[in-house]
Amino acid sequence: LGAGARLYTEEDPLVILSSSSLKPTVSNSSSAWLVQFYSSWCGHCIQYSSTWKALAQDVKDWDQAIGVAVLDCAQEENFDVCKEYGIHFYPTFRYFRAHGRPDDQGTTYRGADREIQTVRQLMVNFLQNHTKLDWPDLCPPLEPYSSAELLPLLGQRSDHYTAVIIEEPDSYVGREVILDLLQYSGVVVRRALAADRPLLDTLGVTAFPSAYLLLPNGTHTQLAVQKRLRFFFSSLLRLLPGVQRRARRGGGGDGGHTGALTGRPSSEAWRDFDSSQVYLADLESALHYLLRVELATHSTLEGEELKTFKDFVTIVAKLYPGGGSVVKLMDTLLEWLLSLPLDRIPYQAVLDLVDNKMRISGVFLGAELRWVGCQGSRVGLRGYPCSLWTLFHVLTVQHDAMPNALENTALEDEAAPVLQVMRRYIRTFFGCEQCGRHFEQAAADSLHRVQSREQQIVWLWNQHNMVNNRLAGSLSEDPLFPKAPWPSPALCASCHEEKDGVHVWNQENVLSFLRKHYGAGNLSPKYSV
Ligand code: FAD
Repeated sequence: LGAGARLYTEEDPLVILSSSSLKPTVSNSSSAWLVQFYSSWCGHCIQYSSTWKALAQDVKDWDQAIGVAVLDCAQEENFDVCKEYGIHFYPTFRYFRAHGRPDDQGTTYRGADREIQTVRQLMVNFLQNHTKLDWPDLCPPLEPYSSAELLPLLGQRSDHYTAVIIEEPDSYVGREVILDLLQYSGVVVRRALAADRPLLDTLGVTAFPSAYLLLPNGTHTQLAVQKRLRFFFSSLLRLLPGVQRRARRGGGGDGGHTGALTGRPSSEAWRDFDSSQVYLADLESALHYLLRVELATHSTLEGEELKTFKDFVTIVAKLYPGGGSVVKLMDTLLEWLLSLPLDRIPYQAVLDLVDNKMRISGVFLGAELRWVGCQGSRVGLRGYPCSLWTLFHVLTVQHDAMPNALENTALEDEAAPVLQVMRRYIRTFFGCEQCGRHFEQAAADSLHRVQSREQQIVWLWNQHNMVNNRLAGSLSEDPLFPKAPWPSPALCASCHEEKDGVHVWNQENVLSFLRKHYGAGNLSPKYSV
């Protein structure tokens, strides 16, 4: 394999197989498998890798029923196994049944259409090809239910929701939603057919696909979706109160790595909040934690650290919305930093300024951590990292709203000043080392392409979603706040579309949503100092 030319890495949402792991993985497995045998020198395989990764991401939550994997036949250690499995052309796609025997070499897919939607539907067909005897252990039933089975459930209390997707026979939406919810507890998804008259008559359903919801308390209602798309159904069901991701995957996220950073005092009363708003209390708590805890671990600041700190104080002083104590404090801090002739300052001097001098003049930052939109369901979740994202999203939007705010500062000539400062801050100070490495990699790969204030907003949104994707189901996910593509359809329906059966963002609508959501007009002072 050529230097650095790996097509797939551990970061991708799929399993990378090798000669030693292929057979143990796919034979007698509790789930089915779809394996792409490729060759890292084959041009088509290289081109196709982005589609395959997008497919794997699209069906990541199905992996307990059917997993997606790759095996590189160009690696010397894999020569023998590719020969044993009779792989002559690249790429070759093989399906392996669940509970297959060790000599099962899989079923080859020979079709020319390898688009995501086609392959995804073939995965569903392949799952349905299993019999009672070899059905994947955790795969729910995919066949339609009849009115005779479903109607008796009406009015019954239960410990979970039951969602019924009613659809035309050639629709895959029901089966896809069933599989999308596979890892979630608190909801069971069934499908039924539009030809089932008694069901339609009783439920009053007339458009397809529709989702009908039986609530735990025995009531029932049609689920209101703005668009009849898989993504909308799945995302609404996942966000039902009490519905939670069940299985914890080992890989992907970095476990509790950010746990020590959340800085949430225990046994606090829950603060009610509205997820369509941004809370100043979170931004203030971010600054409080950052100045008094994160930076305070550095006894002196010099060189790169000092420059990064000055730049950070500059963007907050110039861009923090709404004026008030925070801006006054940051302005004073900035003035002081710029007037110091020293190239090395003891951090205690910063703390003294923040703590004492400011308090005397009546200007101070909240003296305690008060998470609101960033509250976690338990200590160690959310808190500081959540508020840091929020702060930088707000700053990208403010920079767009006030294009001249950074004039006459050291940052005025930078193309993407907020992101560059965020990058330097994360690299230099953010306590979660893994997070810093990932973010630095992403910045090194694509930040140079960000040339406008709009692109700045969108880059950070996109980057944050990539992190959400990577961390979904990992230990740093708060079960009450499952990581998912953001904004959800409930927050912004017009942000979501479907193209060739695959979810796509409407970037223009996302941008206007971000401007509104993180704009000064959407900042709530509730719980703030
Ligand atoms: P967060 O992801 O912190 O999001 C906070 C809020 O922002 C959400 O509640 C939502 O309202 C909003 N939001 C969500 N997505 C978007 C979006 N795409 N655009 C705009 N707003 C959005 N943890 C790890 O385990 N591994 C890592 O590699 C890692 N890297 C990180 C890198 C950075 C730069 C930062 C700041 C944090 C990183 N973390 C990492 C922490 C992790 O991303 C979360 O912050 C943490 O797990 C808390 O998650 P949360 O549920 O509060 O939501």
